[in-house]
Amino acid sequence: MEIPGQDLTCFLGALPKTETHLHMEGALPWELLRAAAGDRFSSPPASWAADYRFSDFAQFETELLEMAFAYFVSPERYHEAAAAVFRKLRDEENVRYVETSFASGMIEYAKLDARAVAQAIRDAAPGDMEVRVFMGIHHNGYHNGTRGFIEASLEWPELAGVDLHGTESFPLEPWTADLWARARAAGKYTKAHAGEFCGPEFVARVIDELGVTRIQHGVRAVEDTALLGRMARDGIACDVCPLSNVKLGVFPGMAEHPLPRMLRAGVVCTVSTDDPVTFGNRLSDEYLALAQVHRFGPAELAEVAANGFRVALLPESRRRAFVDEITRLAEEFAA
Ligand SMILES: [Zn+2]
Repeated sequence: MEIPGQDLTCFLGALPKTETHLHMEGALPWELLRAAAGDRFSSPPASWAADYRFSDFAQFETELLEMAFAYFVSPERYHEAAAAVFRKLRDEENVRYVETSFASGMIEYAKLDARAVAQAIRDAAPGDMEVRVFMGIHHNGYHNGTRGFIEASLEWPELAGVDLHGTESFPLEPWTADLWARARAAGKYTKAHAGEFCGPEFVARVIDELGVTRIQHGVRAVEDTALLGRMARDGIACDVCPLSNVKLGVFPGMAEHPLPRMLRAGVVCTVSTDDPVTFGNRLSDEYLALAQVHRFGPAELAEVAANGFRVALLPESRRRAFVDEITRLAEEFAA
């Protein structure tokens, strides 16, 4: 594998970036977990190794939940974690815009005040970073224990929207389409995880039934050329996490990852880290892997970074300013 030159590393450092697919529980900084529960978490998990592969989603989820349950016991902990995550992303990865979700299942398990958690995460954003907070709801996550705060959340200004989480399964539960439609009517943005473990038919289902225009992952849409064409035409964007896909065995390796094909088909794709506390990845690792394995040059890397701002929930003038800054940087670098 060719190591990109110093120039490319400098370019990546200067490139304004986004994280639009980041689970707050999965972004828990290791040092905070160790400080809170060091007796059980003295060294990072084996899953941080580059060649590590999870046997299945259940194993991944078990590892993640074990860490999350040990740490996220109060809204203050969410605030502490979020502040550290945002600071690190801004200072080390030049990230200027973040969409992050917290899990409604965690709220239920730890008996937390969901609104206080949403607020704690939002309040942790540095002044020079835009943060949008989503509530993640599992396919089986709308029931007596969660319904009250999920319904109430549609009115909370702290919450930007909802995101369908967890093991993909269909037919979709009947509550989802109704809740997603009502969320949009209440001014919330709606997303869904799809096309990670289930194929293109599930991606089409969440587009048709939930009415989402942003898919978390969506990578298995490549198995259906017509669907890819439709996504490109209709502006259905995908928040892709290549290293997560590889470690979870969605594709055998980075070389087989279909992000380049999706971009060539005209689908707006962004790049994010998903759950870095289990994968051990930084955002720059994702960009570097695209440069090293898929020969992405400055133009392609700039395109991916710009896509993050194209999908961002920002006023058009702010979005445009970021995209223009990226275009200028790419031109300077090419000169
Ligand atoms: Zn995810």
